[in-house]
Amino acid sequence: MIRIEDIIAKVVRNYPNADVNLIRRAYLFSALHHRGQTRASGEPYLVHPLAVADILAEMRLDEVSVATGLLHDVVEDTLVDLETLRASFGDEIALLVDGLTKIAHISNLSKEEQQAENLRKMVLAMTTDARVVLIKLADRLHNMRTIEYLRPEKRARISRETLEIYAPIAHRLGMGKMRSELEDLAFKNLYPDEYKKLEAEVESRRPELEKMLEKIKLTIEENLKKNDVPFTQIQGRVKRLYSLWRKLKKRKITINEVYDLIAARIITPNDKKYCYLALSVIHDIWTPVPERFKDWIGMPRENLYQSLHTSVIGENGQPFEVQIRTEEMHYIAEEGVAAHWKYKENLLKSKEDDKGLEELRRTIERLLLPLVEETKEVKDSKEFLESLKLDLYPKDVYAFTPMGKIIRLPRGATPIDFAYAIHSEVGDTCTGAKINGRIVPLRTEIKNGDVVEILTNPSAHPSPDWLNYVTTAKARNRIRHWVAEKQRAESIEIGKKLLISEAEKFRLSGKKILADEENLKRVANDYGFGRVDDLLASIGYGKTLPRNVMAKYLGAEKFAELDPEKKKESAIQSGIKAVKKFIGLGDEAIVVKGVDNLLLTRARCCNPIVGEEIIGYISLGKGIVVHNKECKNMKALMVNKERIVEVEWAKDIRQQVQAVKIMVVTENRTGMLAGITSAIADIKTSIRDARARVSRDGRGFIEVTLEVFDKKHLDRVISAIKSVSGVIDVERLNNSASKV
Ligand code: MN
Repeated sequence: MIRIEDIIAKVVRNYPNADVNLIRRAYLFSALHHRGQTRASGEPYLVHPLAVADILAEMRLDEVSVATGLLHDVVEDTLVDLETLRASFGDEIALLVDGLTKIAHISNLSKEEQQAENLRKMVLAMTTDARVVLIKLADRLHNMRTIEYLRPEKRARISRETLEIYAPIAHRLGMGKMRSELEDLAFKNLYPDEYKKLEAEVESRRPELEKMLEKIKLTIEENLKKNDVPFTQIQGRVKRLYSLWRKLKKRKITINEVYDLIAARIITPNDKKYCYLALSVIHDIWTPVPERFKDWIGMPRENLYQSLHTSVIGENGQPFEVQIRTEEMHYIAEEGVAAHWKYKENLLKSKEDDKGLEELRRTIERLLLPLVEETKEVKDSKEFLESLKLDLYPKDVYAFTPMGKIIRLPRGATPIDFAYAIHSEVGDTCTGAKINGRIVPLRTEIKNGDVVEILTNPSAHPSPDWLNYVTTAKARNRIRHWVAEKQRAESIEIGKKLLISEAEKFRLSGKKILADEENLKRVANDYGFGRVDDLLASIGYGKTLPRNVMAKYLGAEKFAELDPEKKKESAIQSGIKAVKKFIGLGDEAIVVKGVDNLLLTRARCCNPIVGEEIIGYISLGKGIVVHNKECKNMKALMVNKERIVEVEWAKDIRQQVQAVKIMVVTENRTGMLAGITSAIADIKTSIRDARARVSRDGRGFIEVTLEVFDKKHLDRVISAIKSVSGVIDVERLNNSASKV
């Protein structure tokens, strides 16, 4: 059994001022309450908390973590409750043990979905105190080391969980050593037959492989010395069984085709230039395999890993990998976040322990939170489990500016993200992009290694569309900000126009009213707005009626005296006028409920025709855009409720034609086009354009542009076409020109 004094000695070595008494008390408390309990192996239970505490001390964690390691199972497995523990050890340890206890409950659930839901909670719990993650991993590591004593089903379940959840978390946190051990132990217990088979296969080659490794190491050593490249260590290794197994399965290859079955590792003093020097020596000795070189020093992985990897062809044609890194990089590759913490810790005085801990917490959060963020969205627990498995191996995308600067972006990023990553200004004025020298649409997903050139124009602006294809928060925030500003400016302009034209109805000068800041300010305050611009913006948005503003501006008496409504026949008429005036859509068209005199345009995407159900949307620079209620674009816009305006067709409409495109699908026979056009002509409808083509499967597609008066008319035309023999289907097409 590990002795508590040995653990204390390890802690004191790292923290000379550590509260040793806390660890001793935790030990006695744990020993007292676990007394009489045994593990599946038959050993006293205390062996387990001691082993966990020892792993934590090895990881150079603080005395609170080590004490928690000793106490981590008391609430779960003894009669001690959390309050008793809190009374004896305080809030900090109680919080950590509580976090660990909650996670422990999870594994006892049988249903996969329940488990997934709880795992989600676990990931969230882990980020509340970073040390919970590390203590949980230490706990799991010792359980895996002693798993052979459990029943086979339990062994399989725990191993699967280790492989799917804990090893990936260790990987995400850059803890290479922890991950490797967890994976190999889990592999052995989850797939015992395949493990044994692969192990035998590797073992039969081991003497030969070891001999090769010795020779490789010697060759490297001689050449580094000959070239005066300093190094501190040269290691050789045969690939771990689990990672070998995964590679064989994934790539469907045999063991002979694995490029990194054996690998040499060069550790250099702490200056990355030695790594690159060593690399050039390696490439001098052996021929490198093209495209197998990876520079994780120039582009560190998110989990802090840094190293150069290259594959070369050895003497007998046997390929092998060479990894090159500095001592510090090596330490971090093995220990991950814990080492990162320790490196910081060395720089700090003991009094400032909290800062180191804070740093650790932030690093863990940074590495795990994207995972939590992504999975928060996922409603379904099973889906969550899947996403967890996938996203634990995140792939950043690295792209380059034409000058060779590296830009790191999340998967799915587009040139717009790239532009904003360079500089906000570049993003704001982006007009296009070239990837690897070729012009591409801005929605193109950037791939690893792409050279991205952003085309800009100083007078260009962000487009709200971009929000549909950016992935970085920076880009999203900048675009949103710009759109909001722009919308406000537009609304103020529209508000001014509306107020001026309202004033004209009262035979007053709108410009004079706009210049009368004092009284306008009074009206604005009346509405609860601080500034006149806020009032104008509200008018522009259609929230405040210009007529009401006039009433407040003029006062009741004057308003009644000048009110043009008395003289006019109906509000609709002025609505008609406004439409004519602003967009010339025709004599009459669309009336906005409650507001007359507004800038109106017909949406090009759905080209609504008279009689169809319509809805209005206050849009940038276009005033109110009128869409068909069924329009897909409109459905997407419905989220912005405050910008939706009710509209309806004017009642006394003079008949006027509108172009509408339809698609007729037919059987492939002769005379189809003639049959259809004559059916259309029969109901006295003009055809502006018709084109026919035949698809590969032998069906005919005839696109017809018609001139119709309204929806009823269109419906009649469609049913006439449908009655032509050989017609399979008729469909109205959007996007037809709205010009008449
Ligand atoms: Mn435990």
